[in-house]
Amino acid sequence: MSEFAGLKALVTGGASGIGRATADLLAARGAQVAVLDRDTAGVDKPLLAYRADVTDDASVRTAVERAADDLGGLDILVNNAGIGAQGTVEDNDDTEWRHVFDVNVLGMVRTARAALPYLRRSGRAAIVNTCSIAATAGLPSRALYSASKGAVYSLTLAMAADHVREGIRVNCVNPGTVDTPWVGRLLDAAPDPAAERAALQARQPTGRLVSTAEVAGAIAYLAGPFSGATTGTALAVDGGMQGLRLRPA
Ligand code: NAD
Repeated sequence: MSEFAGLKALVTGGASGIGRATADLLAARGAQVAVLDRDTAGVDKPLLAYRADVTDDASVRTAVERAADDLGGLDILVNNAGIGAQGTVEDNDDTEWRHVFDVNVLGMVRTARAALPYLRRSGRAAIVNTCSIAATAGLPSRALYSASKGAVYSLTLAMAADHVREGIRVNCVNPGTVDTPWVGRLLDAAPDPAAERAALQARQPTGRLVSTAEVAGAIAYLAGPFSGATTGTALAVDGGMQGLRLRPA
């Protein structure tokens, strides 16, 4: 498949997990792909790698400008870099709240701000934000993370409205629990990793974790030509968590 032939994409957080699967998939389907990450070790050709921290506006600007120059423009921005946080409102202090919002929300704002001048010139541009089912599901012990992803969801809708007349579509994906290195680290830190994994799997009606390939496929759909009439939406990739209301068996 080469539906992305001639298109240039930038994927933040593209060195690992969902971002890496997305960068690889877009490249396999014909896009030229640049990865922006704070740690680009292991990012190989054909992907281009640019080191930047999304909490540092200057480093984001420099990386986006260099990527767009090297690629010869930008058509797709996958705003994916993000970090997790656990706890109720009593568990995380102001410093933690500021840091998670700095990465998960402002990180996407900074990257979009730097990329928009290039995307505007594309004529068929798309931004896909990696949001989360936590934005809408009311998950326990995820107050800070959920609030940050709620902001990403609202940002997606607002940006879709602001840029639709410029030929830029903006959508987000809302994954459930995805089998990524991040979730692996969470499970390793749990008192009983096997029991924790089983609990996460049981939370999703499909009874298993989502794969990175499944999220990458959804992002590619929203970034590509087959979703040309779609903007301002959230696509759930969550094993039925949001849509189904199953009673426990
Ligand atoms: P991951 O840890 O495997 O990958 C995240 C990548 O982002 C890493 O390469 C990391 O270096 C990069 N990154 C983190 N902070 C950064 C910063 N300040 N500047 C630049 N790069 C930075 O995680 P993942 O599970 O693939 O998560 C990717 C996205 O998916 C996140 O936005 C996360 O909130 C979202 N998400 C994950 C899950 C899940 O279950 N794994 C579920 C829903 C949403």
